[in-house]
Amino acid sequence: MPTRNDSFLELAAPGVRALQPYLPGKPVAALEREYGIRNAIKLASNENPFGPSPLAVAAARTAIEDLSRYPEGSSYLLAERLALKHQLDAACITLGNGSNDVLDIIARVFLTPGYEAVFSQHAFAVYPIIVQAVGATARVAPAHDGCHGTAYGHDLAAMYELVGPKTRLVFIANPNNPTGTWLGSAELESFIAALPSHVMVVVDEAYFEYVEQVSYPDTSAWLARFPNLMVTRTFSKAYGLAGLRIGYALSHPEVAALLNRVRQPFNINSVAQAVALAALDDVDYLQQCIRRNREGMAQLVTGFESLGLSYIESVGNFVSFNTGRSGADVYEALLQQGVIVRPVANYGMHEHLRVTVGHTDENDRFLNALEQVLHD
Ligand SMILES: *Cc1c(COP(=O)(O)O)cnc(C)c1O
Repeated sequence: MPTRNDSFLELAAPGVRALQPYLPGKPVAALEREYGIRNAIKLASNENPFGPSPLAVAAARTAIEDLSRYPEGSSYLLAERLALKHQLDAACITLGNGSNDVLDIIARVFLTPGYEAVFSQHAFAVYPIIVQAVGATARVAPAHDGCHGTAYGHDLAAMYELVGPKTRLVFIANPNNPTGTWLGSAELESFIAALPSHVMVVVDEAYFEYVEQVSYPDTSAWLARFPNLMVTRTFSKAYGLAGLRIGYALSHPEVAALLNRVRQPFNINSVAQAVALAALDDVDYLQQCIRRNREGMAQLVTGFESLGLSYIESVGNFVSFNTGRSGADVYEALLQQGVIVRPVANYGMHEHLRVTVGHTDENDRFLNALEQVLHD
């Protein structure tokens, strides 16, 4: 490469200069290549260990026959199907190439330099990236502390205190990743009701399907009352379709119209559109994945308890546990054993690691490797 006198860094937009890139989970193939091992397992990215519904896989095979055509830009059939599912008009739906794409679109629609977005400490790592990338300012509220019953969870009162005249967006992950903490219907509803009308609120429900708590809210039913509310969902987690990239937002139709101005016209590929439709029809498969996740979570929690490790109670398909020492060291030692979990030091949690609920034998392998690592 030719060298340049001036740094590219100086050419970058101000928000981008100080940006720390998102750290994805290490792929199995990369670990096997780097460490010269085989049969590694990955419990690092909250993927569904059982994969997608067989009906979704069959739909993918059919859709792949027609790859020379551009996808339908409006994802018409999928939007209609989602509208039916949520009892809303299709005009309330904005589809994204994963819900991260939708979150990014939201940031670009509502934020510019000089405006602020509020979110919680330990909240999903994508929020600071998309806020900073558009040159806006992040205001981070401290999470509940360790003494509280909801330790590590969003503290809505602390978040509310950061809302001011420059606030345009509030991000709430319910449940949050990597903490697995969640907010109940009553507290979330009164928080949203109290927000001033110049503040838009995003409730990120990437793990919605897994949550079985009775007081967990169905926020899609609140849209009629709160025109400033946007709810995001994804096919990446419980539907087992992370590789295809499909997510969406539910909102007031005028908000959706704004989001769709910024959305790339073909951001949902044709295979993804067909597969998502098929996945929505296989309710039995989804229920089975949810049940097996519940069993796997119980297996992990029992394992932590017998190892004497504390963990953050989680309603998702992952759980963060306290290693009692440097999380980075335990992460490395687990890699040597062919087990990939997720460090969460970038979330300010240096002793914790996050593990995704796998299938029974993966959970066993993880717990055995962890026991070995901790007793070494
Ligand atoms: C996994 C996750 C997402 C979903 O990302 P996709 O782009 O839909 O794959 C969104 N929010 C949170 C909190 C997540 O953990």
